[in-house]
Formats: sequence, structure tokens, C-alpha cells
Amino acid sequence: MRRTKAFIPTTKEAPSDATLPSHIFLARAGFISQVAAGLYNYMPLAKRVIKKIENIINEEMTKVGAQEVELSFVTPADLWAESGRIEKFGKELLRFKDRKGNLFVLGPTHEEMMVDMVRNRITSYKNLPLNLYQIKTKFRDEARPRFGLMRGREFIMKDGYSFHANTQDLDREFDAMEAAYKKILTRLGLDFRVVEADSGAIGGSGSKELMVLADSGEDTIAVCSKCEYGANIEAASRSARGAIPEAPEAEFNKFLTPDTKTIDDLAEFFKVDPYYTVKCVAKRVVYEDESEIVLFFVRGCDNLQEVKAINATDALDIVDVTEEELAEIGLVPGFIGPLDQDKAKHVIDSDLKDAKDLICGANEKDYHFVGVDLGVISEVAYFADIAEVNEGDICPHCNGKLSFTKGIEVGHIFKLGTTYSEALKAEFLDENGKSQPFIMGTYGMGVSRLVAAVIEQHHDENGCIWTPATAPYMVNIMISNIKDEEQVAVGEKLYKELQDAGVEVMLDDRKERFGFKMKDAELIGFPYTVIIGKELVNGNVQIYTRNTKAKDAVAKDAVFEKVMELLS
Ligand code: ATP
Ligand code: MG
Repeated sequence: MRRTKAFIPTTKEAPSDATLPSHIFLARAGFISQVAAGLYNYMPLAKRVIKKIENIINEEMTKVGAQEVELSFVTPADLWAESGRIEKFGKELLRFKDRKGNLFVLGPTHEEMMVDMVRNRITSYKNLPLNLYQIKTKFRDEARPRFGLMRGREFIMKDGYSFHANTQDLDREFDAMEAAYKKILTRLGLDFRVVEADSGAIGGSGSKELMVLADSGEDTIAVCSKCEYGANIEAASRSARGAIPEAPEAEFNKFLTPDTKTIDDLAEFFKVDPYYTVKCVAKRVVYEDESEIVLFFVRGCDNLQEVKAINATDALDIVDVTEEELAEIGLVPGFIGPLDQDKAKHVIDSDLKDAKDLICGANEKDYHFVGVDLGVISEVAYFADIAEVNEGDICPHCNGKLSFTKGIEVGHIFKLGTTYSEALKAEFLDENGKSQPFIMGTYGMGVSRLVAAVIEQHHDENGCIWTPATAPYMVNIMISNIKDEEQVAVGEKLYKELQDAGVEVMLDDRKERFGFKMKDAELIGFPYTVIIGKELVNGNVQIYTRNTKAKDAVAKDAVFEKVMELLS
């Protein structure tokens, strides 16, 4: 491509709302243009990157026997009612009516559509397993679309769905898909980690996320210092604590504790480790048709993990409550303890089951109990894992320590089981001629998010640094002075040679200053730029490597071979 003909509108101005490097550079380098909140146009450079990612996905999917399909973007709301997800998905579903008044939604994911396509078409175990996927635009009316391609409302996803006659076969496919996803990310040149994920409202057993490691990632992941264990903080677990602080021995008693509303105040007041205090987090728990205040109790040294709390209460969402709302049901903020279960539903962290020597609120202003033994309510209270793991906690699989790192969720694979096949009555006849719902897996990968993830992991202060597999063009030939006939001749010759060799090459033939063109090349992030400049009088050109910033002089007659060698 000749740069004089290319549509690459680079600019100095970053979008006013852009904070992440990928958002800033993809916009400034002319890859994407924003249309409205969370809606982006892909300009030619972005389109090339997306196609490369899609090609790699297609190749790896073909290798594992998955077949590509394409489902309608506009999906009948009836299907969403059939699965029961129309409520759960809430406002993220963009709904509209056609001219006949039929209700539709723009597909945010396609489980229902895929099950609908397969049901009554695959009717025997003999035709299983089956793995179908598509690469397609999705729409989610995200509450806070942000960070450019990272969290759009319209975005491209690879979504795959597998159908099986038994769980062993689903397990086999799940492992094969995990391996394929790892291969895709490795080929893309990304540093990533596969982590255990929350299975959320859909239920199901196995759920893993593929996280590209980057400081800007929205997800926190807990990783073990010793073994392979990694988990999204929403799902991370830990072994029982090793070094437990010395217990404050005291008889059960009520103490006047004025102005000790926080855990720190309390620990200071009694000179105890926060491990022995009980923290209450009051939340309004929102269900499909109603909501209620629920009290979540964790140890003072822990924090409530909200996703775990949502799962423990089977809620759609949990939101904050005010002190007034608590006062209305007779609770005294700062002094709430788990011993009075009449006023609101309790959920107590499993680590507190049968815990002794505790200090907790006495459900009375300015009073706390000491010497509390929660064994007294172990039969009647509801216990669940609702605490967030802390850095330094012990790995659930070995004796290593957990530490936190940030990740970008680029893929999510999930053992669905029969949730959708049962709801949509999608069945096959098993070996004994008995009707069974399909056992399913689902495998998503964020294609447009991957474009941003590459840049989050590979950039510097000057712009993008594309990996070899994702670069829109591998080589940029820079003619420094377009009025110099010899420079032009050498540039044109190399351009033709590289094109003939099948290299994706850009020829910067613009009549602009060298410095300007070089900045532009840095911003776009071509892996190699061949600079044809003043050195040509000595028979030399330079090869500039974007990643290392190295500039190497090469004889003009050897440059084609040298470039080919670098690319191989
Ligand atoms: P997130 O937790 O980031 O909101 P999700 O868990 O809702 O994502 P999935 O339903 O698992 O997303 O979708 C599969 C993949 O699609 C994700 O792993 C992610 O890479 C991508 N994806 C999801 N939402 C968006 C979005 N709003 N913009 C871009 N990519 C997205
Ligand atoms: Mg997900």
C-alpha cells in the first residue's frame, strides 16, 4: 500500500475520554473512530488487525474440528423468554419491535440461537459431539462503555458452543478448547494466564477465563507463587490460614465501646488482631421481583467479595444501603453482630463457622460482645464462602502464597451442562433410545477486545508496538526525501520486491518532513521501518526495529534479503 493512497487519518489529538494507551493510540493512529458511546468504526488498519486475529482463530478452530456458522444478529425475544434470560440480562439487552410489533433483541451472546438451530436437527447420539462457532458482532448495552475497544457496546466476539452426549465428552472438548485458546493467544504473541472463573448465575461446573496480563486490566487475578493455580478474585479460594494470631481469651460478655465503629477502632480498643473481630457488610440484595437487606459477615481482616455474595444469595445484583435504611429495620450501624438473626437475613463466611474468641457488635448502640463462640449458631445460620482472598493467603492447591496481578479477560470457556438444552427442550436419543437434553459447553473470545489487549501489553510512550502476528503491515518503507530520485528508485524497487514476496508492506511516499513521518510510523507501530535517507550516498539504508528501537545500517543491495531474514 502506498501511504499517499492509504486511508490512515493519524492525529495528535487523543479522544477527551481516553485514559488507556490502547484507546489513545488506536484512535490517534487512525485505527478506530468513535461514533457514539461504546460504538466504533474500524478503519482500514484496524480491519487488517481484526482479520489477522480472526484467521488465527479460524485455523485453530478448524484444527480441533469446530465448524464455522453465522447466526442472525437480530434474535427473537421469544427465545430469550424461553431460556428465562430476558430478565437476567436486563438492560444490557437492546430490545426493539419490528413493523409487525414482534419483539427482538440484538444478540449479546448466542446460546439460545445456537440451541434453537441444533434442536430437532441433531436427534441422535450418533451425530454427537458437535462444535459450532461464529465470529460475529455482538451488542450489549453496557452501563459504562469505556476504554475504547476494551468495553464497547457493539463488539466482535468469537462464540462457540459444543453439544455432547455425556459429561466425559464435554470434559474432553473443554480441555481441547482450552488448549486451542492457549495456542491462539500464544500465536498472537500475548503473555497470558488461564484462571479459574466465577460460574455466575448460569451455574455449571468448569469455568475458566483467559487473561492477558496488563496493568490496565479491569480484572484482579490471584496467582500462586509456587504452582499453576490462578483464579479471578471473584472466584479465588484459599487454604485454611497457617499462622493464626494468638486468641484473646475472654468470657462471653457485653462491653461498652463508645465510638468504635470501624474494625480498626475495635481492634485498637481491645488490643486484638482484626482476625478475631467480625465485620458486617449490609447490602440490598436484588432478586427478579423484589429486594431485601442482607447482612454479610466476614472476619475483620477480610473483605466481602461481592460476586461471591451474589452467588451465595442467588441474586441478580447487590447494591449499597444507607444508615437510614438500616435504622428503619432496627439495626445499629457499626454495632451489628451475627447473633440477632430476626431483623435481616444473615450470610456468614465459612471461615467463621464454629469460630471462637470473637468480638462482634451487640446489636445495640456503643456495645460489643467479647468471647463470642459462633458454634452456638452453626446449626441455624447460613454459611458460605463470601470472603475475598488476600495477598499472602495460602494457595488452595499447595503451600505457595497468593499474590495479585491485573488481567484483561479476552476469553471465557464454560461447561454449561444442560441449562439451555433443558430450558429449550433440545434433546437427542441416547444409546438406549432414551430422550436426553444435550450436554453443552460454551467458548467465547473477545476479538475486538484482543486488538486493544495487544496494545495494552505492547506499547511505549510513542505508540503501538504490534506483535508479528497482529501487525497491520510488517514493513514500512520510508523515503526520507521524496524529491531525491535515487531514494525514490531504491524505495520503489524494495517495495515491489517485498510485495512480490508476499510481504505486507507500506511505502511512505508522502511529501512530508522525515521527523513527521517517523513519528507517524512510531505511532502506528510497524514492526520494521526501512529508512532510505542520506546514507544512500554511501550505498546504505537503515532498518529500524520498533520493538527494540535499534537502527541497523544495511547495504542497499542486501536490504531485501535482510528484511526477509528478519521476517522469517
Ligand atoms: P466482562 O466481565 O469483561 O464484562 P463478560 O464476562 O460479560 O465480560 P462473556 O460473556 O464471557 O463476557 O463474553 C466472552 C468474551 O467477550 C469476554 O471474555 C470478552 O473478551 C468479550 N467481551 C465481553 N463484553 C465485551 C465488551 N463490552 N466489549 C468488548 N469485548 C467484550
Ligand atoms: Mg466472562
